[in-house]
Amino acid sequence: MLLNFMSESSQIYASKTGISKLAIMALAIVFTAGLFVVGFDQGHIFSLVYGDQAFEDLYIHELTHDMRHASGFPCH
Ligand SMILES: [Zn+2]
Repeated sequence: MLLNFMSESSQIYASKTGISKLAIMALAIVFTAGLFVVGFDQGHIFSLVYGDQAFEDLYIHELTHDMRHASGFPCH
């Protein structure tokens, strides 16, 4: 009886409710895409739709310009 109690109390339980690797991958992709949009896009994303005109309009650059300077990204 005492031996049985000691063997149960010494077991190590691994948590099965941790964050899944799929969720970590999805968040990493969202983070990388967001970092690119906020910090580095110079018309690349809109150029998929608007073509070369997007590199002259720089809509996302203008939208995130002050945030880039405030957070220290190289802007221009
Ligand atoms: Zn700037």
